Amino acid sequence: STHQDFLLSVEALSVSFDGFKAVDDVSLYVEPNEIRVIIGPNGAGKTTVLDLICGKTRATSGSIRFRDKELTRMSENGIVEAGVGRKFQNPSIYDDLTVFENLEISYPRGRSVLGALLFRRDRAVRERIEEIAETIFLADQLAERAEYLSHGQKQWLEIGMLLIQDPELLMLDEPVAGMSVSERRKTAELLNKIIVGRSVLVIEHDMKFVEDIAHRVTVLHQGKVLSEGSMEHVKTDPKVVEVYLGH
Ligand code: ADP
Repeated sequence: STHQDFLLSVEALSVSFDGFKAVDDVSLYVEPNEIRVIIGPNGAGKTTVLDLICGKTRATSGSIRFRDKELTRMSENGIVEAGVGRKFQNPSIYDDLTVFENLEISYPRGRSVLGALLFRRDRAVRERIEEIAETIFLADQLAERAEYLSHGQKQWLEIGMLLIQDPELLMLDEPVAGMSVSERRKTAELLNKIIVGRSVLVIEHDMKFVEDIAHRVTVLHQGKVLSEGSMEHVKTDPKVVEVYLGH
């Protein structure tokens, strides 16, 4: 593939904290419509890689190209506007608002107050909210206050709040942590529904879930890429087996 084929090209990315290399010369190329999963032991640098891509942490060296944009030179807001959405582990939904309202406040509506007021009752907005609610399995809960949703439904709502901004790259940090088996299965279904026209980059520990969703897996260890490829490939890679079973 040439570089134009990739939605995201991370090249030789490094960051040090007080001389400690948390991310050490990492390169990672994500294609359009790809679900990429990053796995690795605690402290491997997974979260830091996502923090670097979304601009929360600044790289010491290396580049992060998203389409034709160099993200290492952009603000966190600029990166969101460029089309990168990030979901953290703890949901940032508004408990006292309904599902509909949570999605509505996440709708990108420009910067003016007047624009926001005019948008509120726009039919196109309502239709988009209903479409997203369907995707995240909450079509029947639109009028429900978010506090009454199950743990899994809250996670889906937050994914919906990102989807309504139509990001081309969606980054998720342990999306199925604490979910039931059936919620995990539906989350896999959800991710497979939303990758048309976008890519998903996921940090995940649940190997059964990784097998269900990953097109490709990147294994990080001590800040470096230890292995990469299909789940079948990485799980039989002796280097990976040693890291996971060796201690
Ligand atoms: P993972 O997500 O794979 O568990 P992290 O990316 O959270 O790993 O952390 C990688 C390493 O970098 C860890 O040793 C962690 O303690 C360190 N680290 C992460 N963020 C910071 C920070 N802001 N300051 C200092 N050390 C950090």
